[in-house]
Amino acid sequence: TSPRTPRPIQALPDQLISQIAAGEVVERPSAVVKELLENALDAGGTQVNVRLEEGGVKRICITDNGRGIPHEQMPLALARHATSKISSLHDLENVGTLGFRGEALASIASVAMVTITSRTADDAHAWEIEGSHNATPTPSSGALGTTIDVKDLYYNTPARRKFLKSEQTEFGHCAEVVRRIALARPDVSFSLSHNGRTVDHWNVSEIARRSAQILGDGFAEARLPVDETVGPLRIHGFVGLPTASKARADGQFFYVNGRFVRDKVLVHAVKAAYQDVLHGDRFPSYVLSLDMDPALVDVNVHPSKIEVRFRDGRAVHQCVFHAVQRALAQTSATAHGSVPS
Ligand code: ADP
Ligand code: MG
Repeated sequence: TSPRTPRPIQALPDQLISQIAAGEVVERPSAVVKELLENALDAGGTQVNVRLEEGGVKRICITDNGRGIPHEQMPLALARHATSKISSLHDLENVGTLGFRGEALASIASVAMVTITSRTADDAHAWEIEGSHNATPTPSSGALGTTIDVKDLYYNTPARRKFLKSEQTEFGHCAEVVRRIALARPDVSFSLSHNGRTVDHWNVSEIARRSAQILGDGFAEARLPVDETVGPLRIHGFVGLPTASKARADGQFFYVNGRFVRDKVLVHAVKAAYQDVLHGDRFPSYVLSLDMDPALVDVNVHPSKIEVRFRDGRAVHQCVFHAVQRALAQTSATAHGSVPS
């Protein structure tokens, strides 16, 4: 196969196309956890259980009580570019679900052993499909909702398997993804177990309580509420006082329309708002959600959708900066006793 003897151009087989896509979508076990959790929430699940074995490499099993997948559509759930979430460019530009690319399950199934068990309200019993979109669903048992069981990640792509870190490191990344998503959805209860041991469990509650559970009591005791609406933008959540700041940036959670994002505009706006109250080498803690018309933000920038592009980045920056600055100013005024009694 020297470059001097070129091979003819050929369309790649389906499985290989999915394995190539998996390189982007399924970079490590935590990426599988993220995709499956997003599907569970898109399906309206209110109770989501995550079970991991050996850092997720051996097994990732996520159960939800959402609306389920009709059995005749189960093969399509595993097919590439097949989705129930959008059907037109207009839908794409106004997308309100976490998923829409229709490639996660196909990608995962190309690099791991996947079994889907699902039951809709119309089914008399659950159905199960194993492997790929070429398989046929068979009758099974199970409650209303969906269980997606992913075993032996990268069993058929040993080169990728070599890039995995230790079990504890991979588990840490998975747990972080669960925390991020649980923090955005206090209206859903979540549980997380590793190697048969329950690690975390959060019941349905309010954002104040959920954020105290996930960020700790230190944050709960030193946080200020934010809730402002500026034109089409609403920013809400909590910002930590300087006393809740950290030496690492691991207490920063920003969501855009319910999706955890890492965005330069947002990070910069918050940092600038803290400038007067926080030493430069400290990182503020915060849980902030920015909600807007989906048409004002492009989430189709990267397969993992962790990056977004705002139609009006300046307006977003201003809104976030001022809201956070005002929340922080409130306390320095209180601390200095300058609030009229
Ligand atoms: P996407 O989420 O982008 O549509 P996926 O590959 O993640 O693509 O899922 C394909 C389809 O399978 C979804 O559009 C949805 O209809 C169905 N699906 C996946 N997971 C679930 C689930 N937990 N509950 C109900 N339907 C699901
Ligand atoms: Mg999805």
